[in-house]
Amino acid sequence: MAKIHIIDVTNRDGVQSARLGLSKLEKTMINLYLNEMGIFQSEFGFPTTRHESFYLRANLELAEMGVLKPIRLGGWVRATAADVERAFELVPGIKHLNLSTPTSDQMIQGKFQGAKSQEDIICMMADAVEAARAHGAESLGVNAEDASRTETGFLVRFGSAAREHGAQRIRYCDTLGYDNPFTIYESARTMAENVGMPVEIHCHGDLGMAVANSIAGAKGAIDGGQDAYINTTINGIGERAGNADLVATVLAVSKSKGFAEGYQLEKPVDLGKAWKISRFASYAFGVPIPIDQPGVGANAFVHSSGIHADGVLKDSGNYELYSFDEVGRGEPETVETGSEICAGEYGGISGFKHVMGRIAVRFKGPGQAERILELARYANVATQRPLVEDELLFIAKYPGIAGKILTLIPPD
Ligand SMILES: [Zn+2]
Repeated sequence: MAKIHIIDVTNRDGVQSARLGLSKLEKTMINLYLNEMGIFQSEFGFPTTRHESFYLRANLELAEMGVLKPIRLGGWVRATAADVERAFELVPGIKHLNLSTPTSDQMIQGKFQGAKSQEDIICMMADAVEAARAHGAESLGVNAEDASRTETGFLVRFGSAAREHGAQRIRYCDTLGYDNPFTIYESARTMAENVGMPVEIHCHGDLGMAVANSIAGAKGAIDGGQDAYINTTINGIGERAGNADLVATVLAVSKSKGFAEGYQLEKPVDLGKAWKISRFASYAFGVPIPIDQPGVGANAFVHSSGIHADGVLKDSGNYELYSFDEVGRGEPETVETGSEICAGEYGGISGFKHVMGRIAVRFKGPGQAERILELARYANVATQRPLVEDELLFIAKYPGIAGKILTLIPPD
């Protein structure tokens, strides 16, 4: 039976959102948390973008060290041979790529202004796939941008060409959030049956259906005999109205009526990490979690009206579909309300040692504490907010890697 895999795209689509972004250390923490959670792949950034190079290479190093394992780290590039060449030039160790090109008439016309035909798009994509294979890429997905507004016949031809040239997946992008569960089911199933390759489902929430469309698309791919890959972002952060929320998508796959009886994740995702990863992303993006967000919203397990409260007190199953501890909630939160010392970009060694002592980090000597402090200061320049414990622990444990992640060298 075909399975569902999750490819989280927070570090690519999420950070593309207007007015929102993450520092390179925050992106690294997201990769680490996704790995802990058991997510199949993180689309970890843009290998052709110069300021990502050090971060991407350092995260690939973490993968080689076994720290970011078994998660796969995939880069996003435009589907042109030139972009692929540049990706391998800037990030030579990259192994997994998604190559993206528009496929709808609207975008082929609207973006290339008559300079490219459908055949040109297929040739360009095929050249990009060949170039990536020549560089030894281990897995390649080919993205049909605006797939939901692309005629199915062309999508099938495009996907078939991608497969013939050696790609392993076709990404069906509902770029504008135009699909509904019924249409995306049909499209994904048609693609799976006629292209003969796993289908990635990439949904946006412009009409409020990103999660519903994701599981309907996954069902279509599997009914068509192929594995499904669902793209998510943490807290649904993404361009415009956002993407399919990671936690809600995993909940929908595993808890919605009858779904898991026929359609399963390839390996279990640890929902017990949901609370932690959602809260970190909220803090790092500076975007509060909506009060009614599935699983992690402040009201997700709160009952006050008489009939509901009475029902839950008798048996939580009366009004709760799943329990709070399944999504990693339940620990009391201790928040410092007295005087507090935090590590900042202008911090000194005394305050820093106090903070690190609080989280039980022991330094080997004064030189080491100074070095870690300096790295924490640099990290703080990028984030402009106190680092969380896990970030400080990461810097203390992997100072060499942290130094690379924090490196930015502008061109001359
Ligand atoms: Zn997108």
